[in-house]
Amino acid sequence: MTTVDAGSATAPAVEARQVEKRYGPVPALRGVSFSLAAGEFLTLFGPNGAGKTTLLRILCGAVRPTRGSVHVEGEPVADGEGGWRRRIGLLSHQTFLYPGLSAAENLEFYAKLYDLPDRRALVERALEGVGLAERRGDLVRTFSRGMQQRLAVARTLLHDPAVVFLDEPYTGLDPHAAAMLNRTLARLRDERRTVVLVTHNLSQGLEMADRVAVQVRGRWISDEPRGSVDAAAFERVYTDRVAAAV
Ligand code: ATP
Repeated sequence: MTTVDAGSATAPAVEARQVEKRYGPVPALRGVSFSLAAGEFLTLFGPNGAGKTTLLRILCGAVRPTRGSVHVEGEPVADGEGGWRRRIGLLSHQTFLYPGLSAAENLEFYAKLYDLPDRRALVERALEGVGLAERRGDLVRTFSRGMQQRLAVARTLLHDPAVVFLDEPYTGLDPHAAAMLNRTLARLRDERRTVVLVTHNLSQGLEMADRVAVQVRGRWISDEPRGSVDAAAFERVYTDRVAAAV
């Protein structure tokens, strides 16, 4: 098992300070602040339109906040190249896969982009890890939604990122692939990666987390250790909290 070096001893793995985002008149984020220590696994829940995807996109530098700042391992997340880009992995609604390339070619492309060594073996392991070794030569455009999602998981983790952002990663996965993803998430947690998981699946989200936050209308309305969450009562508590906040 590779355990991640915590990076700078003082800097949090992820830090958001008063992050706001407006899309025209729409306030998607209204001042989100939090800090994640290296190795923490945070699950973020929230209803449709709460601004969770917007937050993840800001955390990984894909979208610029209207106000506030984000740091990854002490480095400001801003436009342009920075060491932080190689330290993060994002699985989003977009797969970032090239439909006209095969599964293996897609991963080889990303391996080259990240200048990773032993590319062929690495790609093969990654394909095996998501159960797609048999389909390595097939074009991604011929893949089902779930197969594309599996490959997207492999792409996200190919460069061994220390900080992983996952936006509804269970989307489109069959139970077998969901179980495979659970094992991958468990491995990330055991390796002390820092993870932010956004999901609508309360039980799966709670299973991995050591911290649980709820976002409603662009604000965090709770942020607590997993240990203080009663899993059996969480669905009701969550529904009540969301209803009170909307
Ligand atoms: P879901 O659970 O449905 O995926 P979410 O919590 O991820 O929702 P976001 O996708 O971040 O929510 O959207 C938050 C708000 O920002 C919504 O009102 C949405 O319409 C708006 N929004 C998001 N992206 C854009 C955009 N590119 N342009 C305009 N408005 C946007």
